[in-house]
Amino acid sequence: MRQITIIGTGYVGIVSGAGISDFGNKVVCVDILEDKIQSLKNGNIPIYEPGLDDLVERNVKANRLYFSTNISESIQKSDIVFIAVGTPQAKDGHADLSAVKAASKTIGENLNGYKIICTKSTVPIGTGDNIIKWIKRSMKNKFEFDYVSNPEFLREGAAVKDFLWPDRVVIGANSDRAFKLMKDVYRPLYINETPMIHTNVTTAEMIKYASNSFLALKISYINEVANLCDKVGADIHQVTKGMGKDGRISPKFLHPGPGFGGSCFPKDLMAFLTFSKEKKIELKTIEAAISTNIQQKIRMTGKMQTLVGGSFENKKIAVLGLAFKSNTDDVRESPAITMIKTILDNGGSVNAFDPIANKTMGKIFPTIDYFTTWENACRDADAAAIMTEWNEFRGMDLLLLKSLLNSPTVLDTRNILNPKSLKELNFNYDNVGRSIIE
Ligand code: NAD
Repeated sequence: MRQITIIGTGYVGIVSGAGISDFGNKVVCVDILEDKIQSLKNGNIPIYEPGLDDLVERNVKANRLYFSTNISESIQKSDIVFIAVGTPQAKDGHADLSAVKAASKTIGENLNGYKIICTKSTVPIGTGDNIIKWIKRSMKNKFEFDYVSNPEFLREGAAVKDFLWPDRVVIGANSDRAFKLMKDVYRPLYINETPMIHTNVTTAEMIKYASNSFLALKISYINEVANLCDKVGADIHQVTKGMGKDGRISPKFLHPGPGFGGSCFPKDLMAFLTFSKEKKIELKTIEAAISTNIQQKIRMTGKMQTLVGGSFENKKIAVLGLAFKSNTDDVRESPAITMIKTILDNGGSVNAFDPIANKTMGKIFPTIDYFTTWENACRDADAAAIMTEWNEFRGMDLLLLKSLLNSPTVLDTRNILNPKSLKELNFNYDNVGRSIIE
């Protein structure tokens, strides 16, 4: 049984830790945050992720998964150390690598024999060389180690499934010894013939950024097409259906909406762009995807403003859905933030509701009113804006919605309500790219 340390217990650290222990390894997940580790030790998972509770509980019971703040001891006892700390966006657009640097230093200080040091955090291309340097600089004695880049592709909201049944595992390892050991960590996947892509470190780092950027590009592209549909009387849903049937295009990530958010796409695109500028290579498509996305979020606030008569002044808007997408409590860069901020900045007020993310949004907007049901959030509001594609909004009782609102006004930024039903009920209504539906 391989002994593994995962440094950082965020979305990636907890899911990877639980998943890798489920593959039959002994894993200790460590963090500098004592409260977080204590909570995990008590069986409380600090994030919402479907299926994660069960996965963690099963592996803790099987004595394969542990949580600790004793990072040094854990590293010393491990064969493989994963870095899964955050790499948020710095003010200048670069990825902030201070947590990665701190983790590398701790690893160097505690190296006591051959180990694999593996980065799961998303780090700019070339960071592997710096991590090796930082580790070597803090080593007390000379020990051999191999460095591996093993980027993570899980999606929040489907992270457990994505980790246990990935499309591929990318292992950037410059030595065969390291690649073999890494393959062993993912043994059940390897046996199931999940593609294991062996590259050098730099290529693995590039695969992660190129993949995220491509997905974000697809979203920005379809949002632009949806905006054009609005103007010319085409239906974006039929457009995406017609496009997606083409195997070269695929229907995935062709959903128009209020713009992408989350902890990855916005910062990763910016880091990729900043990096490419340094290398004097233009990534104009990425630049366009970023600005289109910013505009899309603003565009949604414009649609809402138009629906309420041109001004938010003294208007109370029910913002339904706060998370950047469904099945997560993550609100980082969520389009709902732009919506709420614009309403408040322009003299309006907000009734907010999310099935899971009220608490996380409460840290950003502590003074708005939060509700535990969409019905209560809509009561006596002047309009509702659906910002997240939660299933419970899909099945909304539209008659009830109409009776709760001061005036029947709805912006559906996820295109999940039935336009015909809304029309029949005389809703003042808008969506993204489906204005033709009568
Ligand atoms: P997160 O912010 O949720 O969690 C990071 C954790 O690292 C925190 O608990 C923090 O306390 C801990 N940490 C920071 N410095 C530390 C240190 N020196 N020692 C120990 N622990 C430390 O981050 P996340 O969303 O899990 O993302 C982690 C990385 O994975 C990022 O680079 C991200 O881009 C990448 N990634 C994220 C996702 C995602 O969906 N969230 C998907 C793929 C890749």
